[in-house]
Amino acid sequence: MNSQENFYDVIVVGAGPGGSAAAEKCGEYGLKTLIIEKEKLPRDKPCGGMYSGYIKELIELYGSEINDLVERRTDRVKIYLDQKIIFSENYSIDSFLRKKLDYFITKGAIRAGAKVMDNCRVIDIIINSKEVRVFTEKGIFVSKIIIGADGVNSIVAKKIGLNKGWGRNDVSLAMESEIKMSNKEIEKRFGNCTIIYTYSNFLGYEWVIPKNGCVNIGLGTSVSKSSDLKEQFVALAKRLNIEMKTKDIKAHMIPLRMLKKTYKERALLCGDAGGFTYPLTGGGIETAIKSGRAAADICNEAVENNDFSLKMFKKYESYCSYFVKEIKKSRLQLSILEFCMKYKLINRYLVDKFFRFMVK
Ligand SMILES: Cc1cc2nc3c(=O)[nH]c(=O)nc-3n(C[C@H](O)[C@H](O)[C@H](O)COP(=O)(O)OP(=O)(O)OC[C@H]3O[C@@H](n4cnc5c(N)ncnc54)[C@H](O)[C@@H]3O)c2cc1C
Repeated sequence: MNSQENFYDVIVVGAGPGGSAAAEKCGEYGLKTLIIEKEKLPRDKPCGGMYSGYIKELIELYGSEINDLVERRTDRVKIYLDQKIIFSENYSIDSFLRKKLDYFITKGAIRAGAKVMDNCRVIDIIINSKEVRVFTEKGIFVSKIIIGADGVNSIVAKKIGLNKGWGRNDVSLAMESEIKMSNKEIEKRFGNCTIIYTYSNFLGYEWVIPKNGCVNIGLGTSVSKSSDLKEQFVALAKRLNIEMKTKDIKAHMIPLRMLKKTYKERALLCGDAGGFTYPLTGGGIETAIKSGRAAADICNEAVENNDFSLKMFKKYESYCSYFVKEIKKSRLQLSILEFCMKYKLINRYLVDKFFRFMVK
């Protein structure tokens, strides 16, 4: 490869929903775009796969094809507090398999002109006044701008000095397992319901998300409170009478706090890399897509105006403000919930009120 071939307008690190959405929009703008992904694609990601946003918004972005990717549309949400039901209402929730959803968006990016290099880990990044140099297992790539969409452990965020490491209360640890089950059995055991279990002494929640031919069970809590999480997971499976092997439990962290700054000259962070998730629920697919698309808008403006100054990249804050408002609301609710738990104020009314926010 000669140096011209290795030079891009935008390099996106990570082919999750954030990176793929960003690359797709960059491609649509006509920017020469490269996605670098450490895994072989299509890759899976530990996730419940429950979509927190409005499916209408996804259809507007990706067309009605997205409906074919919905594994199941449950029509009822049930929430339990200490094993007693406190909330049971008709509400539609769509769930996906991440391997399919994420690759669908990546393929959209390829169609829009982005190049993808998978099986290629980014190791280092150096930004100077003229360019961004991205060091990978397969060589060095150069671009005008870098988008870090490489998840909660983002190497981009670390190398460019925007994340010196999450605090123990800034991230949650979540675990999930997708268990094969016939649709007949799913209907018999859970109905067409998404089920959430909350506890007055556990700042987090357990979930049961029925899909098509499998059911996703999982739980999550702040890392600082997660010492017995695996035992709790096994107990959840036992209670649900679900046979599973502990080796099938997949765990990953979720940010509970946005980074103070998610941009600098020639660089933007989106999705989990920037901490764009709803802290109360841990949901981050929707915000990864939204922040990825906002990052692409900034890239387009910067390249068009040949302006890579901090002032240009600071505009990212206002491009994200429409969903960051919701993230901040969710963060406040998590803090209130934490306070109530500390002073043993948790009751049915409170949990009902909080989780109404979750199902909008
Ligand atoms: C157990 C669990 C359950 C969850 N359930 C839900 C849910 O039901 N609904 C919901 O909305 N959200 C859920 N989330 C959160 C959701 O998974 C994330 O918010 C979402 O995946 C963020 O997308 P992203 O594109 O920012 O990052 P990711 O999806 O994490 O993608 C980052 C990509 O970057 C790649 N990468 C990382 N480092 C490098 C590197 N050095 N070089 C190259 N590539 C790299 C990774 O391989 C990965 O493909 C859950 C999370 C967990 C852990």
